[in-house]
Amino acid sequence: MTINVLIYAQITREKKIHEVFFELVTKVRGFKEKHPDLLINALMMGDSTTCNILKSEFYEYGIDNVYTIKSPELGNYTSENYAMMALSLIKETKPDIILIGATSQGRDLAPRIACSLHTGLTADCTELDINEIGRLMATRPTFGGQLMATIMCKTNPQMATVRPNVFKKERIFNAPFPKFIDYPINEEFTHPKLEIIDFIPKNADKLGNFDGANIIVAGGKGLKNKEGFEKLKNFADSIGASIGATRGAVEKGIAPAEIQIGQTGKTVHPKIYIACGISGAIQHTIGMEHSDYIIAINNDENAPIFEIADLGIVGDIFEILPELENQLKSD
Ligand code: FAD
Repeated sequence: MTINVLIYAQITREKKIHEVFFELVTKVRGFKEKHPDLLINALMMGDSTTCNILKSEFYEYGIDNVYTIKSPELGNYTSENYAMMALSLIKETKPDIILIGATSQGRDLAPRIACSLHTGLTADCTELDINEIGRLMATRPTFGGQLMATIMCKTNPQMATVRPNVFKKERIFNAPFPKFIDYPINEEFTHPKLEIIDFIPKNADKLGNFDGANIIVAGGKGLKNKEGFEKLKNFADSIGASIGATRGAVEKGIAPAEIQIGQTGKTVHPKIYIACGISGAIQHTIGMEHSDYIIAINNDENAPIFEIADLGIVGDIFEILPELENQLKSD
């Protein structure tokens, strides 16, 4: 059974392909085992120069076809143009499944496409599967994160947006080169109603930017106050780690909102995640459970965080942190 999957390759402001695209390709490639006839198609939209430069990014992932829609008008993202261009390709190529990263752009683009196609969209997913009959099973938190719902849309194409950092990106060497197909521009949509006159970047503060973070030290309400959180930050700095927090800590006013991890915060995927004074509520663990190695420090041996931890330390965070720091320094 041929299953045509179309994955949106978003070009970032830095003129790179967004990492979530490669994470999605890697995940979908895994389904080829049970569905050998599955086709991985990518869609890239942008100006000609950028699209041409980025071509080589698509090698080594086992992608079958890369559709490119090039136009000077697509140099900057605008909802209407991008949606209309994507729609003309989708209507012609008829993918069975469309996957889009749940980035700010993806969260804007996906519902526009879904609405125009009168199809369903499962948004902000944290797990994907394709069942025996080729239907997409998309899992996402629901009821305030109390439940995980696996949703199978009955309409076609099936669509989902997926959070960045949920899946791992993996190259495959010796993969055949994808076929690049230039898709013609629909002239009707090259005259945007909207013009971008300026771009003002969010302050360049690195706080809360977990991209590429190898180690994240995260604190919860167990840190008690701002002073306690500052101690955690010093510990993180001493080991070159990024600092994260629970919503509990943010709401208590001891940590800034930018670093919140979880359902209503960021999703992270570091090599090591050190959870300090964090109970392990599902709304938090949803954003960090895919970390490679989880260390939890909590004075309550029954804290749920220990259920997902690879290494658990039961004790007072204020006694353990200095000891840990000393030992790491002496090594
Ligand atoms: P607590 O649950 O109060 O846990 C504190 C822990 O610290 C306890 O386990 C305690 O044993 C331990 N402790 C106390 N003192 C010490 C000490 N001296 N040494 C060691 N350990 C100590 N939460 C998020 O984190 N991210 C989200 O994105 C998020 N989104 C949400 C969305 C919705 C719709 C809802 C309803 C909730 C959301 N929450 C989110 C909140 C979530 O349900 C929890 O309330 C929150 O994660 C708890 O934070 P915490 O672990 O810091 O606090």
